[in-house]
Amino acid sequence: TSRLATTTAVRLPPLPTISDLVRLYRLRAQKQLSQNFLMDMNLTDKIVKAAGPLKNGYVCEVGPGPGGITRSILKVGAKLCVVVEKDRRFLPGLQLLGDSVEGRLRIIHGDMLRYSGENLFPANSITEWNSDPPNVHLIGNLPFNVSLPLLVQWLHHMSNHTGPFTYGRTKMTLTFQKEVAQRIVAQINEPNRCRLSVMCQYLCYVKHRFTIPGKAFVPKPDVDVGVVHLVPRIHPRIAHPFKMVEKVVRSVFHFRQKKCKRGIAILFPRERTDLVEEVSRYSGIDPTSRPFQLTVEEYARICDVYANICSREPGIYEYEYR
Ligand code: SAM
Repeated sequence: TSRLATTTAVRLPPLPTISDLVRLYRLRAQKQLSQNFLMDMNLTDKIVKAAGPLKNGYVCEVGPGPGGITRSILKVGAKLCVVVEKDRRFLPGLQLLGDSVEGRLRIIHGDMLRYSGENLFPANSITEWNSDPPNVHLIGNLPFNVSLPLLVQWLHHMSNHTGPFTYGRTKMTLTFQKEVAQRIVAQINEPNRCRLSVMCQYLCYVKHRFTIPGKAFVPKPDVDVGVVHLVPRIHPRIAHPFKMVEKVVRSVFHFRQKKCKRGIAILFPRERTDLVEEVSRYSGIDPTSRPFQLTVEEYARICDVYANICSREPGIYEYEYR
């Protein structure tokens, strides 16, 4: 490890290229599992660079597949990379890579959606939430049908400082279908502004770092891919439980093109127009704005009034519109 500390990049011993590995282990991508591989090490290096400096850091990589991004992570000198891969066909190839890096790669065969991400790294990786982020990172090029539910699960963990956020403000570098990446970072009045934008931005600083054309993947997906970097904020911009924020934001965006008052109304039983009025008045928003025209701070004020109503009126929080 002393050698690691003095070099910037770590030379990995000669290994078969990713495309050789794919051939060697007959790793035909499973179309139905949306497996698209990155074979170009320039691109995997670029994704890893977007995560920030990883030297001596701890990384959890989700869905390593044949291990292109994994190699880039190990090459920049991560102290430990834990990979979580669901498809057992990739394990021998990953093991080959692991054998060449002296204990710096730990392979977990499992489904990240069922895995908390706690206790992966030693206690000395932990930093205070209120201090700078730890040298702990989540990185993943996942299938699109997994990356989005996983992101929502991680946002929930983030709001509670649990799961991967027991180490502090763990940074995330993840790929999404380009349109989803645009939704994550969309600001007010932008065409992609949606509930995902608000949910991500109330908890995190978000950045769409770059786009990878679909043709860079093997096999080529029908869409381009956006690389998004998310860093948890010290103070969430909405100070209410995740589930409550989710409910309010989901309801308001239920009628995307209508006045936001229409969405606020579905938080309450039909006859309680008094409560809709109360939210409109005391949150100080313009009830004729469209949901995509409201700032995160305006959503925060809607949540403030809603939370106040819920604490005073039994049964309101449990009310579900259908
Ligand atoms: N990271 C590799 C790359 O960039 O070439 C592979 C990308 S491929 C789009 C996604 C990988 O995630 C596949 O290897 C797939 O088996 C794995 N995967 C899918 N769902 C997963 C889950 N729930 N937990 C862990 N891995 C998963």
